[in-house]
Amino acid sequence: MSSRPDTGRRAGGGRSGGRAAGGQAVVLGAGLAGMFAAAALSRHMERVVVVERDRLPEGPEWRRGVPQSRHAHNLMTAGHTAMNRLLPGVRDELRDAGMVEVGMPRDMLLLTAGGWMPRFTTPLFMMTSSRDLIDWVVRDRLHADPKVEFLEETEAVGLLTEGPRHAEVRGVRVRGRDASREAGRGEPYEIEADFVVDATGRRSRTPEWLRAMGYETPSESVVDAQVAYSTCVFDPPPGHEADWNCVLLQSTPDAPRQGILNPIEGGRWMVSLAAMGGERPPLDHDGFLGYARTLRSPVLYDTLVKARPVGPVHGSGRTENRRRHYERLRRWPERFLVLGDGAGALNPSYGQGMSVAACSAVALDEALAAAGGPAGVASGMRKKVARCIDTAWAIAATGDLGYPWAINDAGLSTRMKLRYLYRVVGASAWSKPAARALLDLNQMVSSPAAVFRPRVVTAVMRGSRQVSDLPPALAERPPLTHADLP
Ligand SMILES: Cc1cc2nc3c(=O)[nH]c(=O)nc-3n(C[C@H](O)[C@H](O)[C@H](O)COP(=O)(O)OP(=O)(O)OC[C@H]3O[C@@H](n4cnc5c(N)ncnc54)[C@H](O)[C@@H]3O)c2cc1C
Repeated sequence: MSSRPDTGRRAGGGRSGGRAAGGQAVVLGAGLAGMFAAAALSRHMERVVVVERDRLPEGPEWRRGVPQSRHAHNLMTAGHTAMNRLLPGVRDELRDAGMVEVGMPRDMLLLTAGGWMPRFTTPLFMMTSSRDLIDWVVRDRLHADPKVEFLEETEAVGLLTEGPRHAEVRGVRVRGRDASREAGRGEPYEIEADFVVDATGRRSRTPEWLRAMGYETPSESVVDAQVAYSTCVFDPPPGHEADWNCVLLQSTPDAPRQGILNPIEGGRWMVSLAAMGGERPPLDHDGFLGYARTLRSPVLYDTLVKARPVGPVHGSGRTENRRRHYERLRRWPERFLVLGDGAGALNPSYGQGMSVAACSAVALDEALAAAGGPAGVASGMRKKVARCIDTAWAIAATGDLGYPWAINDAGLSTRMKLRYLYRVVGASAWSKPAARALLDLNQMVSSPAAVFRPRVVTAVMRGSRQVSDLPPALAERPPLTHADLP
C-alpha cells in the first residue's frame, strides 16, 4: 500500500492528445470524493494519479485530512448503489468487512420533527460502519487497480494551464514533504494531466486558483444551522437484544439537539450527539451521557446508560451547508472539475455527503463514456455535479432554514418549500406515503419532487394527527388509515 512518489511525474510533459484511452488524469485529494472520481476516471484513462497531502494508513485508521471520520457516517441507498456501479462488488466487500445494513425505516427508531416514523419494509437500506472502514475498503480496491497510483504526502499548490486566458488545464503543481528543509516542504514540481479533478474537500483552493487565472469566482449559497458534534464508540451491554439496530432522534427548531446511534463493525455502536445554534455537546463521558438524557426521547439515554464507552469523546469541526455555484460561471477551464465537499458540503446531520460524491462520480463516468474521453467533458459536468448536490440540498439546507439562527440567503420560494417540507415531516408520523417520500429524498433515490406525489399532498392537506410518544415496535401496526395504505 505504499506510495511511489515519482510515478506521478510525466517525462517530457506533453499531453497524450488524440489517444483514444484519454491519457493521464490527476485527482487532488484521496478522501472518498477523490477515490470515487479515481474509480470513474480509471475506466476511461490510461493512468490516474491521486495526489494526497497525508500519508495514507495501511488499515481502517484515522488520519488528519479526514477529521470527520471520528463521527457517525450513514451511507444512503443512492450512495452504496453508485459506489457499487463504480467499483462492482464493493458493497459486498463493505459488508464482509463489517458494515451493517439498516433497513429503512424497518430497522430504525426514527423520531422526526413530526413524531416517530412508522416502521415498515421498503427496498431502501442505508449502511453504517466507522468511516475509516469505508475509506479503507475503497482504497484497497483502488490499490488493486494497476492504473491508479497514490502520490502520498504531496500537496497540490496550483493548476497548470495553457491556451489564451488560461483556457485549458494541463496539469497541477505539487510539492512533497521534505523533513530536511526548515518548512518541511520540498520544491514544487509539475505533473502533466489530460484531466484534473479537485476533490480536496471544504478547504478546496479552486476559488483562489480561478481568481489568480483571471476567472470569475463562484457565488456561494450558505445555510448554517451551527451544528457541532460529539461522538463516542460504545460496546452494547452484555446480552443486549432489540428489534432495531439504529436510533435517530432528530432535532426541531424548539428542541435543537440530535442523537444518532449507528451499528458499526465489531458489534459496536458509534453514537454522535449534535447541538445546533452555537452550543457544543460535551466532550467527556459523563457530560455526553447527561446530554443524551436531554434529547427529545429517553430511548438513547436508556440504551447508553447500560453500555460501555470505548475510547474518548471526539468533537467535530465545520458543518455548514455550503455550495459553490461553479455551474453558474460563464467561463470555465477545459479539462478541470471540482467535486465532493469542495463543490457542495452539507450539514452532516442528514448523512448525504458521501452519497453526493459517489453519484457525482457516476455522472463523470457516464460523461467520459459519452464523450469517448476527457475532452469537452468539464464544462457540462459542472451542471451534473450541481444536480447531484440539488437532491441533497433540498432536504439538508432547506430543512435547516427552519432554525431561526441559520445564516442563509434564502428567498421567498425556498421558504415556502420549507413550510411544505415541514408539513410532510408532520404527516410522516402517520402517513406511510409521506414517510416513504421523505425516505426516498433522504436516501437520494428520488428527486425533490417526491414530496409532491398526490398521496403525499393529500396527507399534507389532512394536517397533523395525534401520534404516540413511544417508539414504534416492529410488530406494532402504525396508526394508518386505509387511505394511506399502498
Ligand atoms: C461530522 C461529520 C459527519 C458526517 N457524516 C456523514 C454521513 O453520515 N454521511 C455522509 O454521506 N457524509 C457525512 N459527512 C460528509 C462526508 O464526510 C463528506 O461529504 C465526504 O467524505 C466527501 O468529502 P470529500 O472527499 O469531498 O472531502 P474530504 O473528506 O475533506 O477529503 C479531502 C481530502 O483531500 C486532501 N487534501 C486537502 N487539501 C489537499 C491539497 N492541497 N493537496 C492534496 N490533498 C489535499 C485531504 O487530506 C483529504 O484526504 C460528514 C461530515 C462531517 C464533518
